[in-house]
Amino acid sequence: MENIRRQCPCSSGKDYEVCCKKYHQGAVPENALVLMRSRYSAYAFNLPEYIIATTHPASPQYSDNMFIWKRSISRFALNTVFHKLEVLDFKESAHMAQVVFTAFISQGGQEATFTERSYFDKVHERWLYRGGNLSQGYAPNLVTTGQLRLLPLAYYGDSILRRKGDPIVEITEDIRRLAEEMIDTMEASNGMGLAAPQVHHSIRLFVIRTPIETDKDKIEYGDINVFINPVLSMPDAETWKASEGCLSIPTLRAEVERPRGITVEYTTLEDEKVQERVSGWHARVIMHEYDHIDGLLFIDRLNKQELDKITPFLQNLEKRIHDGREL
Ligand SMILES: [Zn+2]
Ligand SMILES: [Zn+2]
Repeated sequence: MENIRRQCPCSSGKDYEVCCKKYHQGAVPENALVLMRSRYSAYAFNLPEYIIATTHPASPQYSDNMFIWKRSISRFALNTVFHKLEVLDFKESAHMAQVVFTAFISQGGQEATFTERSYFDKVHERWLYRGGNLSQGYAPNLVTTGQLRLLPLAYYGDSILRRKGDPIVEITEDIRRLAEEMIDTMEASNGMGLAAPQVHHSIRLFVIRTPIETDKDKIEYGDINVFINPVLSMPDAETWKASEGCLSIPTLRAEVERPRGITVEYTTLEDEKVQERVSGWHARVIMHEYDHIDGLLFIDRLNKQELDKITPFLQNLEKRIHDGREL
């Protein structure tokens, strides 16, 4: 018989029975902060199903291999003692939220604290964990006073991803703000590039983190670049294949064949015209993002055989994202 009153690990000061338990049993958290707290206590009580059910399909943590995923959550939960949670900052808009918190834990008898800025998306009236940036140690300077600048992503199945974007007539303050928010969103989602239709704007604009190829398999990120009304021309006859992914098609990767190099002309945020010859990953990212403003996705570049292989995955993904998810 278990009838021990225990304090909720989420540091609310309340008993678990009247605090996070109801969420773990299916109640919908009223806001992202409540969700964040209930996820923390779900880790403390080793409830991998709850963690999985409240993780957004676009989260870097999301895995289609439920067995492996559950196991790794349990392994972390069982090897960690959760002492205390301190919320440093909480901001919420209609569809996005961020929570900055410090967790006081110990692992193998060693005390540890970490501070994380977590991002949440509201999907079908439910908040889901989308990802977080971890900073080691206690870092109260992560607390910001600025506005939330993350934009909701459009996912596979959303018709805006299939629309051809309109040219930008004038670089207004709105365009500048959108570009900045897209950069924040790209970085928070750990993307290499992001195109305006992916954040529900049907215009010819994309941002990238310029890839620097250090060796064959490793890519580092250089400067951030904004492309307005880009035009591609003179693709190399030589093509190469590499594995691509897309923030709008979470967790899928596939080998895409593209020209080795291409010329890109575009307008910068400062209204300057630029023409560049780019190659390798730099060209690939630009071509991938350019496809988005033309209503194309990287899966359109696959041959029929490859497309057949991933069709069940795509159907499943579309269902998961657009039909809502049960807890
Ligand atoms: Zn609680
Ligand atoms: Zn993409």
